[in-house]
Amino acid sequence: MDHSTEEERLEARVKNLEKIALITFESLIAAFNTVPIELRRAKNLVIEILEGNQSLRDHDRVSTHEGSIKSNSVSANINNDAQSSTEIGHNIPDPEDTNQNVGSSYQEESPTPVDTSVLEEVQSQLDDETEVANQLRELLKEERRRSQLLATALRDIQGNIRVLCRIRPPGEDIPAEDLVDFGPQARGDFSQHWGKMAIPTTKRNVAGTIVPDRPREYHFERVFSPSDTNEDVFNHISDLIESSMEGQRVVMFAYGQTGSGKTYTLSHNGLSDIENGVIPRALGLMFKIAGNPRSELEYSIAISIQEVYMNQTFDLLEVAGTGRKEKRIIANTAQKRQLQSLEEAVELIEDAMSYREISGTSMNTSSSRSHLILTFEISRVSREDGRKLKSGTLSIVDLAGSERPNEMGLTGNTRQEGIIINNSLMSLIKLIHSIGAGTNIVYDSQLVKVLRPSIVPETKVVMFVMISPLKKDLSVSFQTLDKGQEASNAKMTSVGRTKSASSSPIGRPGSFTRPNVSTPSPS
Ligand code: ADP
Repeated sequence: MDHSTEEERLEARVKNLEKIALITFESLIAAFNTVPIELRRAKNLVIEILEGNQSLRDHDRVSTHEGSIKSNSVSANINNDAQSSTEIGHNIPDPEDTNQNVGSSYQEESPTPVDTSVLEEVQSQLDDETEVANQLRELLKEERRRSQLLATALRDIQGNIRVLCRIRPPGEDIPAEDLVDFGPQARGDFSQHWGKMAIPTTKRNVAGTIVPDRPREYHFERVFSPSDTNEDVFNHISDLIESSMEGQRVVMFAYGQTGSGKTYTLSHNGLSDIENGVIPRALGLMFKIAGNPRSELEYSIAISIQEVYMNQTFDLLEVAGTGRKEKRIIANTAQKRQLQSLEEAVELIEDAMSYREISGTSMNTSSSRSHLILTFEISRVSREDGRKLKSGTLSIVDLAGSERPNEMGLTGNTRQEGIIINNSLMSLIKLIHSIGAGTNIVYDSQLVKVLRPSIVPETKVVMFVMISPLKKDLSVSFQTLDKGQEASNAKMTSVGRTKSASSSPIGRPGSFTRPNVSTPSPS
């Protein structure tokens, strides 16, 4: 083997390796030089992003102070970052670096620190107030729930049938001896108000002398005296308007002889609010409830206006506003119209009522010989999820005069009117008895058929028993009071039913069935 040649080859290989090591070393140095530059670029990018975020947040803040404080703290973080970055750069010298301390340049730009204590104090006060407001809101919710329960309990006690008597004012210049003595104003059971009447009566004894007899006694939920106002009357029954807005069915009617104040109580649209009758007030309350922007429900109110005359039903909505003279008998169902505002409703009702049948009697030349039935249908939809809730109805009935035909000196058509009116009133009283007792309803008159949409086993009935204060009207007043007392007795049955229904499911008025009677048609 040639040793010299072998040594030369090894020496050449060592030189090659040295060259490779040198090149690698130089490459490493070059790489290390670029690292700080890249690091700085990355850091500057992060700073830009942070500042961008901050200015976006500041824009959203109400307090500019708060924004600058946060910006300060971000700058402080940036400074820290910059410092550590400078340290990296310091270990490996950066030939391109002209700004050795990036952090110090941000130190100069950062906003002046603000005293945060005032802000924190305001914030804490705001938190306290919010807490109190939330607690009050919860309390209010609870109170609302409790008052609703109490109202329901009160309605249960009152039963489905509420009979209220109203004595009309005598009019001017009526001597005291011409006025009926209704007895001491004794309170009703479970009531703060006048509820019991004891009207003195007389009889002829065997010797033919007129002597005092036992007083005739009546007991109603409340008796309104001649000095009570339409406002007092409405306040007493307004909870039932609310019930109809809560999905219940309510029927109110005024029963009494011509001139006893039925129209005044129900329809009067006076110059002052205190004179307004049940209808304008009920409309006001319904639109108030429906218009409450905080209500969870969306309401829509539709109306139908019908007149029953000589046992025929007429649709007054069909003629209202048309100026037409003739009314048409309803063939199928009555028209319904959506009410958009209180003003529109009042105008529509007034116009429809001007078509009501009127004829003269010896009692009152403008006596109403027909029944007027207004039915409001209240639909409800949940604002939250659009769910449809049970609709309520409110029927208000201004009845024809209850005076008996044979006592009125009537003849011909007017007498026939009186007989038909009387029959329909009897059918209405039967309806009340059936509601009270929970038995089948017999739809045996046009009046009761028109009320059908408002009749369910739980229908709430308000009967206004309207009487004159005059002695000359006393015999008719007794007839009216007797009918009211009958309805009051039906009320007792309804209370019993409500009680047993809530204590035992067997007692529920589920046995109540409605016969399949078709929609009112001309008879
Ligand atoms: P009805 O409808 O029962 O035939 P009205 O309501 O027309 O009777 O009343 C007859 C008259 O008595 C009307 O002039 C009416 O204004 C008046 N009247 C009735 N009740 C009252 C009352 N509570 N206050 C004042 N006036 C009344």
